[in-house]
Amino acid sequence: MATEPSAVVRADVALVGAGAAGIYAALSAARAGAEVVLVSGSPLAASASYWAQGGVAAALDASDSVADHVADTLRAGRGLSRASAVEALCAEAPERVRDLIELGVSFDADRTGALALGLEGGHSARRVAHAGGSATGRRITRQLSALAATHPRVRVLEGASAAALWMVGGSCVGLACEPARAGSPPCPSGVLVSATILATGGAAALWRRTTNPRGAIGAGMTLAHSAGARLADLELIQFHPTALVSPTDRDGFLITEAIRGEGALLLDAGGERFVDELAPRDVVALAVREQMIETGADSVGLDLREVDMTRFPNIREALVESGINPAVDLVPVAPAAHYTIGGIATDLEGRSSLPGLYAVGECACTGLHGANRLASNSLAECIVFAHRAVAALASEPEPPEASAAGAPPPAGPSPVPPAETRAALWGLAGLQRTPEGLEQLTADPFPLARRIALSALARRESRGVHQRTDAPALDSALDGLHTVTAGEAEPLLEHWS
Ligand SMILES: Cc1cc2nc3c(=O)[nH]c(=O)nc-3n(C[C@H](O)[C@H](O)[C@H](O)COP(=O)(O)OP(=O)(O)OC[C@H]3O[C@@H](n4cnc5c(N)ncnc54)[C@H](O)[C@@H]3O)c2cc1C
Repeated sequence: MATEPSAVVRADVALVGAGAAGIYAALSAARAGAEVVLVSGSPLAASASYWAQGGVAAALDASDSVADHVADTLRAGRGLSRASAVEALCAEAPERVRDLIELGVSFDADRTGALALGLEGGHSARRVAHAGGSATGRRITRQLSALAATHPRVRVLEGASAAALWMVGGSCVGLACEPARAGSPPCPSGVLVSATILATGGAAALWRRTTNPRGAIGAGMTLAHSAGARLADLELIQFHPTALVSPTDRDGFLITEAIRGEGALLLDAGGERFVDELAPRDVVALAVREQMIETGADSVGLDLREVDMTRFPNIREALVESGINPAVDLVPVAPAAHYTIGGIATDLEGRSSLPGLYAVGECACTGLHGANRLASNSLAECIVFAHRAVAALASEPEPPEASAAGAPPPAGPSPVPPAETRAALWGLAGLQRTPEGLEQLTADPFPLARRIALSALARRESRGVHQRTDAPALDSALDGLHTVTAGEAEPLLEHWS
């Protein structure tokens, strides 16, 4: 029987977000026998997962090793990675990729039928599995969502938004729902569960120039923060060096690292190379910014003329739509906010600081990426940590009876930033930060922007993606220390326990 729109539904697990992390967690929980509610605010194409071009990093090749993947990830993380999270990711990613293959995701293979693994910036081996060339995210999310939509133990609430976390006695027992936008179908007013898993994606679209879909505004971080959960490393936002500069709505379109692995070059105004194109992202992004400041130009040139673009059909299509012929023209590119390293602080099973509340994927911060994410480690993170969180759910207590839980809570603070906040974050918390700019940002009307500014002020050094003009060097005394913030308290620098 259909549920009344206003009714509260009960299940074992609620997943919020239908990107790679949310759908894979939903399927994993359902396969383990749990009754799952998957709350998805947007259509599939609006998730960052759908847009992912590069692929999934996993030490799958006979010539590669988990130890090498660990070493590359730690090197990119610049002394800030949580080693146990790195080891979990690298050890478990191969098995999770094999699981995706069993679930029907068709990764690209070479002539012998073996996975065709790509090389990307910061990786010392070919270890990035692609699907459909640069359509990896699209292939993964399409296949997983088709399975979730037809799974008898997964109930999908499409067009429903998590409006608040439902807290009883300091524990999270579910969430309040509302239609995501005018015209969305009616939805239950609340979901009561043993465990709530936020998989709401990152916050890079809080910055004015971004590679992310508009919905990547850290909604899960706002939900968790207003319920009292700890957030970590909010100052660490990765800027991608090669986002398209275009007067069309394709501005910010990401041109994957993988293309640099296949020979694309970055050229200055005089047509000369100025950086090792396969250096880690923070190094390449800063070099591009420096070139732009030196020349006063709004972009540098990405030379794709020698690249076989049949391997990157969606990039070719986007460029042609923007009036650029990559066989002839240099492609104008510049950095854009791309990946949220920080997020809801979790342990290695996705547990947040609030009982009953978990977070996985880009909205979570396990400490895995340290001060700089290695390319293609985030889709791997989505599937590895979603799997680990689901394995931990068995220990959660039954949800309270509806009579004991009361009514679902009212909607919390809006997660949508004002336009001025996006401009302020871009101007004051971009690739290079000044203490004066960050101080100014602490007065922003949007709470998450204020927490980002305070975290950036607390980290008095330059490391990886966080660069401060007043503290231009890495301070080794801060190795392994993460900024942790909850409520209105000042962020603290802490080691993970
Ligand atoms: C252009 C681009 C290319 C990338 N390429 C790669 C790559 O090649 N390899 C790689 O490893 N990583 C890549 N990344 C990063 C990677 O795609 C993301 O880190 C990852 O997909 C995040 O997945 P997720 O499931 O955590 O979140 P998302 O995929 O962002 O999904 C979050 C979902 O939560 C929903 N949601 C949010 N708030 C609410 C709410 N309140 N209620 C209900 N639903 C809500 C959103 O609508 C969305 O559907 C790329 C990112 C971008 C933007």
